[in-house]
This record gives sequence, structure tokens and C-alpha cells, in this order.
Amino acid sequence: MAFRITARRLAARVPVTATTATTATTASNPASTSTRGYAAVGVETPAWTKSTLPIPPVSALNASAKPNHVLRAAVAATEPRNDWTREQIAAIYNEPLMELVHQASTIHRRFHNPAEVQLCTLMNIKTGGCTEDCKYCAQSTRYQKGTGLAAKKVESVESVLAAARVARDNGSTRFCMGAAWRDMRGRKNSLQNIAAMVRGVRDLGMEACVTLGMIDAHQARELKEAGLTAYNHNVDTSREFYPSVISTRTYDERLQTLGHVRDAGIHVCSGGILGLGEETKDRVGLLHTVSTLPSHPESFPVNALVPIPGTPLGDRAPLAFTEMLRTVATARVLMPATIVRIAAGRKTMAEEKQALCFMAGANAIFTGEKMLTTECNGYDEDKDMFDRWGLEPMRSFEKSPKPEA
Ligand code: SF4
Repeated sequence: MAFRITARRLAARVPVTATTATTATTASNPASTSTRGYAAVGVETPAWTKSTLPIPPVSALNASAKPNHVLRAAVAATEPRNDWTREQIAAIYNEPLMELVHQASTIHRRFHNPAEVQLCTLMNIKTGGCTEDCKYCAQSTRYQKGTGLAAKKVESVESVLAAARVARDNGSTRFCMGAAWRDMRGRKNSLQNIAAMVRGVRDLGMEACVTLGMIDAHQARELKEAGLTAYNHNVDTSREFYPSVISTRTYDERLQTLGHVRDAGIHVCSGGILGLGEETKDRVGLLHTVSTLPSHPESFPVNALVPIPGTPLGDRAPLAFTEMLRTVATARVLMPATIVRIAAGRKTMAEEKQALCFMAGANAIFTGEKMLTTECNGYDEDKDMFDRWGLEPMRSFEKSPKPEA
């Protein structure tokens, strides 16, 4: 079944006027719309809701302001900002959940077309054998005895491109390739192979993303030259909680890699994993790290831990969905132009929960047979969900301009 854009969906794509957004759009060419091209239309707000209160000035964004004022002033923003304090983020995160989702949904509509969700497919191009000790990961050699996951060689360029073609034919517009490595030191040949994969994916008309561990400035430039759209490197959690999860590389090393990616002109994809045993303050800390980077990541993946038997976190109880929803909604408020991605853990989320995340500002998912070593929602399942909820796939390069030739 192919994705269809129905008349009802097209009707939802109403360009905003100059009075409702800072960037004008053209009705005849919705594809040219910027990240601030769509707004909610035809919705009268009942007089009794909090939303009819006057919007507080941005100066209300200080730690002593009432929490609701912090949220509402944040939602009034017309440009992303990166001077958030932890107190402000905590105030937003801890708002009554329905109010938080409503306000996140409001800002989502100012910066994005709420009907559009990016479809990405993530392929493991090199499974297992990683020397790092991330406590959640099946691919670490340290837990191999318990997980039984055997290391494999790097996939061939041909097999990767065959998988990318299948993904594209099923509606995916971004193809992500993950390798279980600590870093790219001494992997010159592998980098050349990966550059060939990136070029091949781009030739298919798709956005190309890789996640290869830590990279230096030179490696980032090589990937950029190959046409890489985005590089994923998650910070995982707060700076304070991070050492309880990983000891073999530091938080600052992660940020350094993100700096190299940014400097090379590649889009940054960096998010976290929820349910590692962290507390609310750590989820706030994670959001603080990414939302105060010099530029927001273009993509913020929100993963829910998938406990893998045999890893140190293999028996962790699942995190309450409301924390996932709060994280998605808060990310949308803090980083309004960013693509917020529901990543690992979606397989166990009921469709209605996913819909709530889309409502709160999530606008990307991974689809396909697998997500690295864990199960993923299949292409057909997602197509059916999109049809039921009036969603449509985001076009390639709509939010990630093609690099200049
Ligand atoms: S670096 Fe990546 S592949 Fe290696 S253990 Fe950590 S999460 Fe797993």
C-alpha cells in the first residue's frame, strides 16, 4: 500500500498569513514552506481555557516566574533560543500534562506542518563487537556472554543500498546507517566504504545519516564531502547521570564529536534514552544540554529503553509513558524548529500513545523491520497508522536542505 495524500490532508496544509507567523509561505508550492510555515486554522479557543490568558512577555522567562508563565512565554517565541536555564526547563517539564501537550502542540503548528511525520529507516551496517560499556547496549563485547549477540563484519555497499532502496520504496525519506564502533580511529577503509554508502543513498534521492561513534574534524569533513545529511551521536542523559551508564567515554567527548559534526556543516542528530534509571532532573538535564548547544540539533531522538536480557539494564521496568510524553512536549517547546523523533521503544507503544506524541510535537519515526538489534514497527503497520490519523510522510530534504553541489 502506498502513502496517499488525500483531499482532507491537503486541506490541512493551509499556509499561514504574515500576522500568524514570521515567515510567509506560498499556497501554490507547499514544498517550499520553511520550518515556520504552518499554523493551526479555524480553531476557536473557548473563553474559559487558560490559553485565552494574555501571553506573558518573554521577560517572564525567569526562575521566579509562575511556571505557567514560563511555558506560555516560551510558546510565544518566534525564533529558537538557546539560553534556557534548568529551572525554566523544569518549570515547563512539570506543567500539568494536558496544558503542556496543548502548548507544545500550539508551537509545533507555528514551526511545522502538523500532518507531516518524517519516516526514517535505520540499518545496522556493522553489528556487535563494540568495546564500549554502555549499559543498555546489546552490541557491547562486555555483555556478549549474556546477550549471545555475535559480532559481524561490515555490510557491503551493495547490500546496504539494496536495503535503502526497499526503505525508499516503502516511503522512507531518510536512511540511517549505524556501526557498533567506539570511534573511527584507524578505520580509513571503512570510512571510504561508508562514504560510498552515503553517496549511494543520496543518489536514491534520500537523506543520509550515519552513527559511527566518535569522529574527528577530518572524518566529519570527509563525510560531509560524501553528501552526508546528518550525523547521530546521542548524549543519552544528563551530565550528572551519564557516568552511571557509560564509563568508557566522557560526556565532553560526546559533545566534542557533535562540535566536529556541526563545524563540518552536517546536521546534528542528538538525543537521549529514557528509562535508564534516571530521575526527572536528569531528563531535564538532558533537555538542557541539547537546547543550550550553540545551535539546536536539527534532530532530537527520544528513545525509551528496550531492556535487553544479558545487559546490566536488562531487567529494568519500563518508564511511565507520561515521562516520555513530557520529554517530547518539552523538547518541542524548547527547540521549536527541531525534528523530534520517537525512536527506540515505539514498538511497545500503543498507537494512541504514539498519536499523543505526534500531538505534542513529535514529527519523525523509524520504520522498517529492525532498529539496530531491536524490533521496529513495520512499513505496512505505519502506513495504516498514518491513514487512520491523517498523517503523511515528510518529503526528502524538506527540513534538511541538500548540500551544495
Ligand atoms: S558505543 Fe554504541 S554500539 Fe558501542 S556499546 Fe555504546 S551504544 Fe553500543
